[in-house]
Amino acid sequence: MTEFPTAFTELVGALRQLPSVGPRSAERHALFLLNAPAAVSERLASALTAARAEIHPCRQCGFYAQGADSLCSICANPQRDAKLWCVVEQASDVIKLEKSNFFRGLYHVLGGRLSPLDKVGPEDLSIAKMEVRLKEAPPAEAILALAADAEGETTALYLAPILKNAGVKVSRLAMGLPAGGGLEYADSVTLGYALSGRREL
Ligand SMILES: [Zn+2]
Repeated sequence: MTEFPTAFTELVGALRQLPSVGPRSAERHALFLLNAPAAVSERLASALTAARAEIHPCRQCGFYAQGADSLCSICANPQRDAKLWCVVEQASDVIKLEKSNFFRGLYHVLGGRLSPLDKVGPEDLSIAKMEVRLKEAPPAEAILALAADAEGETTALYLAPILKNAGVKVSRLAMGLPAGGGLEYADSVTLGYALSGRREL
């Protein structure tokens, strides 16, 4: 088999690490970058370096924030309703919910969900951080926007008493979310229905 330059093979290999990039599209992207003006790949390289260096979890909610120990743009926005929280698994869920435009409160990003099989326990999620937040500035209501599967249910059942003991009304997203999937599989309209039709726990 023909050997290509090592740097080319490495570039294709690096691109293949990305989700939904198979061998063919990795090769296509690599060829594009090699043929495009140098500024294109320089921009990509510096954006990657800057994103890794500058983006940190928000010190309050865990979403992406610019700079270490900073607040994200949602937590820093005084227009947001601090009395309403949405508890989500991943930072990507926040992006999804923000795009749906239905939610005007604050978030709490858990960083995953409880999964005894995968040995993910409460200490692996940002639950202790949530409890600190509950002491400092508890909301009136918290919506648990967790996946509609067994692990999402387990996580909801674990979180509900903690929130209720802090005097918080707890609700879960209404049905309509795809079974077994996280929020990333729901479209904006479905998410909007799920939010407005949430049920109290
Ligand atoms: Zn935040």
